[in-house]
Amino acid sequence: MTNNGLLIVFSGPSGAGKDTILKRLMEKNPNIRLSVSATTRRPRTGEANGTDYFFISKEKFEVMNAGGEMLESAQYCGNCYGTPAAPIRRWCSEGCDVILEIEVQGGRQVQQKCPDAVSIFILPPSMDVLERRLRSRGTEEESVIQKRLEKAREEIAESSHYDYYVINDTVDDAVEKINRIICAEKQKVHRNANLIERMLNHAETIC
Ligand code: 5GP
Repeated sequence: MTNNGLLIVFSGPSGAGKDTILKRLMEKNPNIRLSVSATTRRPRTGEANGTDYFFISKEKFEVMNAGGEMLESAQYCGNCYGTPAAPIRRWCSEGCDVILEIEVQGGRQVQQKCPDAVSIFILPPSMDVLERRLRSRGTEEESVIQKRLEKAREEIAESSHYDYYVINDTVDDAVEKINRIICAEKQKVHRNANLIERMLNHAETIC
């Protein structure tokens, strides 16, 4: 996929604060589009089909996956998740920056298929803070919290192939750092292949 927009893989363990960061990031950047994944898991209270996820059956997921409709797919805690490729292609070709909020196996697939993608892994300030954040939600039983902590450790241990780590100490700080990453990535020479040609042909103004 070649485009003017960035494809951004955004991962991190449950409790790292990805959703809050993304919400703030989208408010500040109208050019960003957030991919809506397909999943076979059941909707949680308050989740809407087509907004949070496309909630589909396992059979439909398998047909889509086998038909090459997914950019990546993975199993997570017994459910299937995948990124429908068509909207990503469209948004990228329109010059939008596209964020995929996905787990690490999917992140690796996207890095292999789209080497130009930028990958960011969100970390909590410490494992203690992560545990506190998971507990403060107050919605899960002890066994679920323990499972999520174990999964978080696994995901963090597998994160070394990402391009950037951003520690979510405060949301504002994390959003600022991500904005700087996006900005710096866009200035990279290989993403501006036509710039010099246009400039030398006087179509571009130097300022
Ligand atoms: P949840 O079920 O809590 O919404 O998501 C569980 C995990 O699946 C999260 O780490 C989330 O980032 C990841 N996830 C959501 N959508 C996708 C997707 O399309 N592909 C992959 N690989 N992971 C996803």
